Amino acid sequence: MNRKQSEVLYEEALQHIVGGVNSPSRSFKAVGGGAPVFMKKAEGAYFWDVDGNRYVDYLAAYGPIITGHAHPHVTKAITEAAANGTLYGTPTELEIQLAVMLKEAIPSMDKVRFVNSGTEAVMTTIRVARAYTGRNKIIKFAGCYHGHSDLVLVAAGSGPSTLGIPDSAGIPTSIAHEVITVPFNDTTGLQEALEKWGDDVAAVMIEPIVGNFGMVMPKPGFLEDVCRLTHEYGALVIYDEVITAFRFHYGSAQTYAGLDNHDAIKPDLTALGKIIGGGLPIGAYGGSKEIMEKVAPLGPAYQAGTMAGNPASISAGIACLEVLQDPKVYEEMNRLTVKLTDGLAESAKRHGVPLTINRIRGSFSTHFCDHPVTNYDEAQDTDGEAFAAFFRAMLNRGVNLAPSKFEAWFLTTAHTEADIDFTLEAAEASFKEISGK
Ligand code: PMP
Repeated sequence: MNRKQSEVLYEEALQHIVGGVNSPSRSFKAVGGGAPVFMKKAEGAYFWDVDGNRYVDYLAAYGPIITGHAHPHVTKAITEAAANGTLYGTPTELEIQLAVMLKEAIPSMDKVRFVNSGTEAVMTTIRVARAYTGRNKIIKFAGCYHGHSDLVLVAAGSGPSTLGIPDSAGIPTSIAHEVITVPFNDTTGLQEALEKWGDDVAAVMIEPIVGNFGMVMPKPGFLEDVCRLTHEYGALVIYDEVITAFRFHYGSAQTYAGLDNHDAIKPDLTALGKIIGGGLPIGAYGGSKEIMEKVAPLGPAYQAGTMAGNPASISAGIACLEVLQDPKVYEEMNRLTVKLTDGLAESAKRHGVPLTINRIRGSFSTHFCDHPVTNYDEAQDTDGEAFAAFFRAMLNRGVNLAPSKFEAWFLTTAHTEADIDFTLEAAEASFKEISGK
């Protein structure tokens, strides 16, 4: 496949944009380097690059594009909103409409506030939790990504009862020392951390279903334990549902049927983003009335945003959720994903490539290893070189995946049976190529 024009543009981009990309996850550094593909057009399940090559897309822009690219209902909503003015700096009726839709789908949120990204949503939930509890520390789980704000870009120390170390230059050690990282799916680790630091902990932050070191379900009872233990120590539970909300069903991980005991896993605050903006920039956070009343203008926790709640993002979000209100769309994504993952597993097996697939409804991850992945340590065994070879082999056959060994594959409402067949043919040839047979 000829990608000359992408190479030319990458050389040019490198001269003007740091690293040639506007988010490090778009670089091909983790898959052996070189020019990332410069896309020119996206429609439905497909991308076309600047050289005219077509790709079936499973990146879905890291999650938000669940209705496929340029879905007519979403595009119409954005066009109409833009024609009425893109940014007001005043309240609009549309914001109430999306807030009500979110509250109805995620009942733990009495009150909502819109922001511009998942990073902002998470960052603010931490401030609100600190304002509410009067405490400073947070506990998070290894491998979960919560955006790029200081407090959540902190890795584990050497054990569950040690303080964190910065994961990025530019984060003061004093901030990292406010963070404790424990393994996902490990109740004992959380208990030990709470025993040691509990009285200073404002919040326990968790992806209730993980989307950032693959797709990983909490073990039965784990979220119940997280909520019970956290509350025992007077801290708040924050669910980062930036990836998971509206991904598996019309609702969030906390209302997902696979996690049966809804009341026992109810968080105090929830951070949202991605799908709720239908492909335009958005974030939101919400929780009980009592906690959310800590936020300005009602309370002492300040948070603001020039672009927050802009009519284009809100309209795109409403339109996207309207498409998702039909339960059939989730059933179809689920059906196609089962076919795809079954086919991938068979193909990998046929060619002797170790592959662990974690599927949750219309999303799944592929770890190139031969054991289950239930936490970050297990995920790290994935063979990065095998993944990189597979990623490139698939790209060369017209299938676009995220250039990261941990990132999920996302189905959209636009994918068809024919796309799955095309992908499985590409996978069969790719597994054969990388296994050297
Ligand atoms: N939380 C989670 C769980 C995420 O996956 C991400 C982004 N991948 C974020 C927060 C940050 O969202 P954003 O990129 O919109 O700032």
